[in-house]
Amino acid sequence: MTIVPWNASPRLTIVMYHYVRRVAASRFPRLAALELDAFRGQLDFIRRHYKPISIFDVVSAAIQRVEVPTGAMVLTFDDGYAEHYRDVFPLLRQAGIKATFFPAASALIERRLLDVNKIQFILAAVETPDILVTSIDEAVESAKWRMDVQPLSDYRAEGWKAVRFDSPAASYVKYMLQGALPEDVRTGILDDLFAKFVSADQHAFAEELYMTVDQAREIREAGMTIGAHADRHLTLTSLSRDDQAHEIDGALRVLDAVGTARSDFAFSYAKGAYNDDSLALLRDRCCAIAVTNRRGNAIVGPDDENMLTLPRFDAKHVPTDPDAAPTEWTSRV
Ligand SMILES: [Zn+2]
Repeated sequence: MTIVPWNASPRLTIVMYHYVRRVAASRFPRLAALELDAFRGQLDFIRRHYKPISIFDVVSAAIQRVEVPTGAMVLTFDDGYAEHYRDVFPLLRQAGIKATFFPAASALIERRLLDVNKIQFILAAVETPDILVTSIDEAVESAKWRMDVQPLSDYRAEGWKAVRFDSPAASYVKYMLQGALPEDVRTGILDDLFAKFVSADQHAFAEELYMTVDQAREIREAGMTIGAHADRHLTLTSLSRDDQAHEIDGALRVLDAVGTARSDFAFSYAKGAYNDDSLALLRDRCCAIAVTNRRGNAIVGPDDENMLTLPRFDAKHVPTDPDAAPTEWTSRV
């Protein structure tokens, strides 16, 4: 690496992956997942146009004020799914790519099914979200005597709108079940819907869905990075500072479980959400680098705030055909 004037720091591309599986042939073909074969194509495309580096190469570059290689790319995998170990890890190892994995602590360690995953599978299990909307609205109606439950029209006004790739009905289901309703009401509906449409055995489902601690250790021992992501996968910006501290400290248990130090670690914000409290808490705990879901290229620098708010591209923007022409954000290479 060559030393360059700091204001000339080159851009870095960080890619964010979630589900990578043979989704079309699976029980949940509607799940928003990347096909495994498409991922293989992406790896070929990436090796042709980019230089994959470890997330800690980025940290070292920032500290030493040296340039990251031209075309530097970091691959990140959120949530600790079993397929990351089973299918992704062997491909990365074969390609010599040192990626970063961000499992959620309660899923990895306690084998608890995260609410965010319950919602995704419920939505994937039904033909349209209408039937879910009806169930949710009925539950709100029957709990409307409670002080902490708002009139249905208020929830509709706030949550019924298309968000990113979701229809208004699908976003409404997510909005209601991820946090708009009081936790006990929300959990009751979620568990009923999950049992009805997905599986009666949440524990067995979680066992299948997430990688194990031993697998995460094996990934780390092969030279990949295991970072912290979440404990229960709560949205930090919806929490008080104390509750954020609790969620972040819970998340850091992943580092202990796989034998990584609790300082100078990598972090990925659940749903990309953070605020000043989150930054202060991570700084107190000596986090070295943290990634968001904001789309864009990263400028690497020693500036602390910058290193804790790095943007990422969703994997769906990476061409799956190795012969594809470089996209707007690959043409600079
Ligand atoms: Zn996540």
